[in-house]
Amino acid sequence: MLDVNQEWEEIGDYMHDIMKKLFPICRSITGDGIRQTLKIIKDNIPIEIIEVPTGTKVFDWTVPKEWNINDAFVKNSKGKKIIDFKKSNLHVVSYSISIKKKLPLEELKKHLFSLPKYPGWIPYLTSYYNENWGFCLTHNQFDKLEEDIYEVLIDSTLKEGHLTYGEFYLRGETEKEILFSCYICHPSLCNDNLSGPVLLTALANNLIRIKKNTRLKYSYRFLFIPETIGAINWLYHNENNVKNIISGLISTCVGDSGNTTYKKTREGNTITDIVIEKVLIDSGEPFKIIEFFPSGSDERQFCSPGFNLSIGSLMRTVYGHFPEYHTSADNLDFVKPRFLANSLKKYMKYIYILENNKTYINLNPKCEPQLGRRGLYRMIGGQKGEEIDELAIFWVLNLSDGKNSLLDISIRSKMSFELIKKTADALIKKKLLQEIFTNKEYI
Ligand code: ZN
Repeated sequence: MLDVNQEWEEIGDYMHDIMKKLFPICRSITGDGIRQTLKIIKDNIPIEIIEVPTGTKVFDWTVPKEWNINDAFVKNSKGKKIIDFKKSNLHVVSYSISIKKKLPLEELKKHLFSLPKYPGWIPYLTSYYNENWGFCLTHNQFDKLEEDIYEVLIDSTLKEGHLTYGEFYLRGETEKEILFSCYICHPSLCNDNLSGPVLLTALANNLIRIKKNTRLKYSYRFLFIPETIGAINWLYHNENNVKNIISGLISTCVGDSGNTTYKKTREGNTITDIVIEKVLIDSGEPFKIIEFFPSGSDERQFCSPGFNLSIGSLMRTVYGHFPEYHTSADNLDFVKPRFLANSLKKYMKYIYILENNKTYINLNPKCEPQLGRRGLYRMIGGQKGEEIDELAIFWVLNLSDGKNSLLDISIRSKMSFELIKKTADALIKKKLLQEIFTNKEYI
């Protein structure tokens, strides 16, 4: 049913083009940067935009004041801007309070941050819950600073407002749902951050298109939220609905050249873990599976013990494990359309398995049916390995006793899920298999 062989190159360019539009925006956990970001996403998929007022209590947290920024710079005594927010929004520590003053180099240095190890890169820093101010700059810039009286301006506001996030829900035949979540709170940073939202935008778009032509068994929910506080907010306001979530993924760092990495769910053996492992094996590409750990992105909230959802994270290189992470080098060149497309393909395969994983019974269980008489012998698919296809028939017929799903059969036979599914389809046509409904449908 789901078409997984699309024009991947075009899709990679589509994602990278959205990323180019999102890149210049100065985002933080609240503020107009998030609204502009969601508006661009809304040009592509019909998300709902939700505003939660400052001061709202959400579990142990409180929605913070809203932060916005117009301009920021550091000028030397000759009036020359030596750090300019308009050149890169990474130059200002996110959530910096408003400031306008003159100060000597020694005092200014207390508010400057650079990376001696990577002297050409600007670091990314935040001060969300501690009112402070600061500038980030390259170490090359830092080294050039001379004794002088500097003029510092940060024209920002931190006041009562809202926390903003986006949500898109696509109803399938059942209320059981698959959750995809990403964060939209980093400024001009591509792999660790924008790759997640652009991948989920393309994924949602694909599902909308697919739903026009065919049925979707599950419902799908997509969250575009500020990290941590956004996830806590969403869980607080949707506590009664999370029971419908059977599986899900946090999408982050999906556009770099590294191999795919899967971070398991907290339980480590849920449907999400089993399906993703199969997706990765079937891809034929190198991959890594790592155990859950309680730091990282929003899996920290979704997999907190009070929720313990079956949510993992499908990435390429893990956040914090590439030198460009949280620096100006994590830019539009670091993320390539083909890696975004490759990641999207794996997300689509995950959905393909979930949607097509059914359980059948063999209608001719006493000894093997005579395949030649039914035109099945060496007939499936017309691919190269004819014996393999014949073997796939034997596997599907033998294990279809009502206890094994197609996913179980594909794992046990070490054959791709797609081949096992196509084989089952051929056997159904010949009236050798019948679907049965079991609680094991997605387990
Ligand atoms: Zn980050």
